Amino acid sequence: MISKVAVLVAALASLWAVGAQAQLLPQDTEVWKPEPLVVTPAAQLGGAPPSDAIVLFGGKDLGEWVTSKDKSPAGWSVADGLLTVNKAAGNIETKRSFRDFQLHIEWRVPANISGTGQGRGNSGVFLASTGRGDAGYELQILDSYANPTYVNGQAASIYKQRPPLVNASRKPGEWQTYDVIWRAPVFGADGVVAKPARVSVLHNGVLVQDNFALAGETVYIGQPAYRPHGAAPIKLQAHGDRSEPISFRNIWVRELPPSV
Ligand code: MG
Repeated sequence: MISKVAVLVAALASLWAVGAQAQLLPQDTEVWKPEPLVVTPAAQLGGAPPSDAIVLFGGKDLGEWVTSKDKSPAGWSVADGLLTVNKAAGNIETKRSFRDFQLHIEWRVPANISGTGQGRGNSGVFLASTGRGDAGYELQILDSYANPTYVNGQAASIYKQRPPLVNASRKPGEWQTYDVIWRAPVFGADGVVAKPARVSVLHNGVLVQDNFALAGETVYIGQPAYRPHGAAPIKLQAHGDRSEPISFRNIWVRELPPSV
């Protein structure tokens, strides 16, 4: 009986939350100042994966990936060792699920990129996908080389939660790297988060997120919140903006034991 009451209360609370979120606008959670200082990164980093890495994309095929919405074969294009977003095909995610990991991923905004703000080379790495669409925790990808936008939505931000410490973006046409340490959130038996997710990120070898504790999943409108989940795929975003699609290469992950 108690559990039924609890379920009813939880259902009413979530309905209230949905209603409250519906009153909000996207710009309610945009932060524009202060702008992260611009830092010029060193010469191109990267290179071959370490020996214990799981290679998620090595330049040949999308065997480790599926389409997020229906788990069908991933429909992005692979050519000349590169993976290029197919916006019409939607987000893709790994077949494997992960908890804690080290991730390396390289991405390139095309030299002929057009658009402004969030509509210029927008993509993203969801460090844990918690469902269809953009559900999960997004490390933003964007052309943030002389392209102002709200700073908690620029490249290397934890979307709408944390701007990067500095702006280490390279010019369009140049390859960029993210090296990420992801500590998945831990949920109690009651479904409440016991330990928040934590993330550290190097952008082109420069520290941009330093063990940041997330307030929940990243959301476009409203406030972040946690929903319980277990091991989850890593997801790449096919953003619907009209700018030219970005490319990826050299994606690998090393699973980590839980932190103590
Ligand atoms: Mg994005």
